[in-house]
This record gives sequence, C-alpha cells and structure tokens, in this order.
Amino acid sequence: MNKMQRIYLSPPHMSGNEIKFVQEAFDSNWIAPLGPNVDGFEKEICQYVQVNHGLALSSGTSGIHLALRYFGVGPGDYVFCSSLTFSGSCNPIKYQFANPVFIDSEPDTWNMSPKALVEAFEWAKKTCNMPKAVIIVDLYGQSADYDSLLQICNHYGVPVIEDAAEAIGSTFKGKKCGSFGNVGIFSFNGNKIMTTSGGGMVVTNDEDMINKMRFWSTQAREATRHYEHRDFGYNYRMSNICAGIGLGQLMVLDDHILLRKAIRQRYIEELKDLPVKFMPISDAGKPNYWLTVITLDEDSSLSTEEIIDALEASNIESRPVWKPMHLQPIFKECPFFPHLDNKKSVGEELFKRGICLPTGSAMTNNELERVIDSLKKIFNRVKI
Ligand SMILES: *Cc1c(COP(=O)(O)O)cnc(C)c1O
Repeated sequence: MNKMQRIYLSPPHMSGNEIKFVQEAFDSNWIAPLGPNVDGFEKEICQYVQVNHGLALSSGTSGIHLALRYFGVGPGDYVFCSSLTFSGSCNPIKYQFANPVFIDSEPDTWNMSPKALVEAFEWAKKTCNMPKAVIIVDLYGQSADYDSLLQICNHYGVPVIEDAAEAIGSTFKGKKCGSFGNVGIFSFNGNKIMTTSGGGMVVTNDEDMINKMRFWSTQAREATRHYEHRDFGYNYRMSNICAGIGLGQLMVLDDHILLRKAIRQRYIEELKDLPVKFMPISDAGKPNYWLTVITLDEDSSLSTEEIIDALEASNIESRPVWKPMHLQPIFKECPFFPHLDNKKSVGEELFKRGICLPTGSAMTNNELERVIDSLKKIFNRVKI
C-alpha cells in the first residue's frame, strides 16, 4: 500500500449492508423518488431518535428551509442562529428574504451561549424585532445546553429549529439530539457520520408540520388526479436509492460512534505533551464524536494555517474550525451577540486556534499513527 495515500477528514464508511438495500431497489425497479426504502428509512430514524414523524429530503439545508417556511418566516423577519456553524444553517434564512441575527458560542461545548441568547432576545424586545424562530446547532456532534436554551426560547415564546446535521446519535441527558427543537434536522452529506451520498431528514412530533413539509417538498401537488397547484413547492425529496444507503448506514451508526470515540481517545493520549487542547465535552451529554477538534494553546508559536499546510504536505486533510457566520462577508451587516462582556467573541477565538483532525471511522491504525507522527514532528520542528 502506498504510504502516502491521502487521509481524509471524514470520508464515507460503507458497511456492506447499503448495497443490499440499493440492489433491492434496482431489482424492484424502485429507482424513482420515494418507495419502500424511503418509508423504511423514515420509520427507522424516528425509532432511533424517538420522535413521531420523519421526512427524508435531498439535504439538511432543505429541511431548515422547510422549517423556516412553516414558522412563517418571510421578508424582513428576524431569525436567530448560532454563529459558529456551517453556512447551511443560515443560508435558508436568506432564501426567505429574512434577516439572520447571530449568537456566539459558550466555551464549555462551543454551542449557542444562553447568556448571549438572552441579550439578543432583550434587544429584540426593545427594538420590536422578535425573531420568528431560533436555529440552534449541535456542533461537531455535541449537544447544545437544551436545559437553558429551551427555557429561554419558551420564555419568549419562539420556536426552536434544532440543526442536528452533525449530531445524529448524540444525546443530552439521555435524550437523542434532533428531538429537542420543535423540529430537528439531520444531514447525510458525504462527510457526515452517516451518509446517503447526499440527503437529510426533518423529525418532529408535530403532525401538521410534517404534513405541510411533505406537501411543499413534493412541488405542492394537491391530492387530485391531474396536477393541481394552490401553493408553490420544491423538489426536495430523497430518492429510494439514497434511502437504501441510509438504511445500511443506520445499522452501523452506533458502532461507528464507538470507533470515532476511540480515535479521539487515542489522539488525547498521544498528543498530551503538545501545546493543544481538545474540544471540551460536557457531562450532560454523549457526543457522536463526529470530528476530533483541537485548539492551539494561546502561546503556541505555530498558527493553524502552518499546521494544516504541514499536514497537507504529508497528504493529510485537516480543516480550520468553522469561520463564524458573523465574520463572513455576506453576513457582516447582521447583528451579532457575543458571549463575553468585552465584545470579544468566543467563536472568533475558536476559529483562530481550532483544527479538525481526521476522524473517519474507517481510518486504520497505521493511518492514525501517520497523523499523530506528523503532528508530533510539526511541533518538534519548532522547538529546535
Ligand atoms: C452539513 C451541515 C448542514 C447542511 O447539511 P446538507 O445536507 O449539506 O445540506 C447544516 N448545518 C450544519 C451544522 C452542517 O454541518
């Protein structure tokens, strides 16, 4: 085997079961959208997450879009959203011509800061800009602090969209992520902990919500023989082929979580003498360990860029932590509420010092050693 074969951050990890469901779809000619794999996948995700209804979609982003539309978000409305996240969390706010308001992270889980959220709500109350919804992200597979966050959102009477795109299988106080918001969203994009080669799902206990979303996601076709439209919709549904991949992936999700947990543990043991820390994990929950994320100590003589470049030279993929949305050129005019009083943002600091390391569940021992050795060498070079 080529020693310098590329090591990816989080590549797909097939179990062998996926192809059986896909083959069944071919054998029965259920190639078209919808079909028995889609129904089965929705049912099994609901059972796994312990919610009543699921709707399989072509992406996680489309799920957030449908949720915003359901909550009546329209032109000029405000929507609160975690700042430290992927743009898929907040782009749908723009699809509805609404205004994002970004909320900083707290340092304990890197998720939405309850303190900053309260400040944002107080600002909204004073300026009559009450949001129509709050999008709370479960970052890198770790649950946000729903005890505090839901209490605050309930107090102000605003519904919660839980962006659990990265957090399928994670729990908070024994309950699965995705089940905390009025609606939860999962992503099955190629680099997530489980993949359908591209896809997503919304889950909720609200039957009216799921029915409206199903209607909009299939071009808003009325239940008539001819094509009748009283509303406009989208082509957002998952195909029966993709759902087959999802059924196979779900069978091994819990095993893959354990593999990723072991990879993180190994990094912790091996990198303990380097000037780095690991993303903290709260006692309140169990993450799915999607990515192992380190932060460089403040006095580190290396920058994240230098480390990522050096790993790249060994053909190892790593990434900076998400660049917070309030720092993105497209969103720079949007209001932002920091966690700290001195207006420094926790998210910005994490972006400056954070690096996501390869954490794929299919990573071999040799590959893991290659990443660890490379990291040790990079840091030792500077010492000399
Ligand atoms: C991946 C991701 C999304 C978007 O999901 P897609 O399936 O790629 O549309 C949204 N939010 C977060 C936090 C993500 O990581």
